[in-house]
Amino acid sequence: MIERDRIEEAGWIIANAKYGVVFTGAGISAESGIPTFRGEDGLWKKYDPEEVASIWGFRRNPRAFWEFSFELRNKLFAEPNPAHYAIAELERMGIVKAVITQNVDTLHQRAGSRRVLELHGSMTKLDCLDCRKEYDWSDFVENFERREVPRCKACGSWYVKPRVVLFGEPLPMDVLEQAVEEARSADVFIVVGSSLVVYPAAELPYIAKSCGAKMILVNAEPTVADHIFDVRIYGRAGEILPRIVEVVKSLKQNS
Ligand code: NAD
Ligand code: ZN
Repeated sequence: MIERDRIEEAGWIIANAKYGVVFTGAGISAESGIPTFRGEDGLWKKYDPEEVASIWGFRRNPRAFWEFSFELRNKLFAEPNPAHYAIAELERMGIVKAVITQNVDTLHQRAGSRRVLELHGSMTKLDCLDCRKEYDWSDFVENFERREVPRCKACGSWYVKPRVVLFGEPLPMDVLEQAVEEARSADVFIVVGSSLVVYPAAELPYIAKSCGAKMILVNAEPTVADHIFDVRIYGRAGEILPRIVEVVKSLKQNS
């Protein structure tokens, strides 16, 4: 099947759906300038995840975590891309009921999506692990600009941690439960920009599939779970999703 046919097929499935759920990973934000972890140009080619993105790494050496985060600082300034806007549009049309994301960049919300389940937390809030004081990103903007490790303004601790889920930390249970519920309810489940290797998040497409959802994949390259998808489209999310939404709109207008 050529790509245009697959886009038409995905559009047809989505236009006929009553309960769409979208599941996204780092790949959807790649075109906003935020590097992914895996895949070509992935950060794991440069950094050791054990060192920079685990809770024990953070405890051992917060500086290593922060150096890595400074590299990702685009997150703070990045803008949503057409893929994020296309998903928000599907929600406005009443088709998509929830976005489950592994991303911590808040770009879905900024593109207008309202029901967003952040499985891995977000970068917008921070906590001091010693005295529990809560912070907002805006409190540490200067640190970011100067590449200085943030320090608790109340107790002086170096352990000020963004509310993101690091390796070795549990997922927020309430968010995970809601995500499982959404996956069970979906009649179409659309995966965008995820390698589907990070668990337990990667369990969700299997749950949706086993509960009868039609499965659509939009990713730059094949994933380990390709066999569970009815429609697979390989390419850039920012180009493909708006084309799918166009198909959905034209089918809706003609029905
Ligand atoms: P991943 O890095 O493991 O995989 C990303 C996938 O996206 C790859 O398969 C790649 O081929 C694909 N991709 C790259 N560019 C694309 C594009 N333009 N269009 C479509 N697909 C594209 O990402 P993951 O599955 O989300 O798992 C990694 C973990 O990293 C997650 O837990 C997430 O929290 C975290 N992470 C988040 C961000 C972010 O917030 N933007 C960025 C990096 C990593
Ligand atoms: Zn403190």
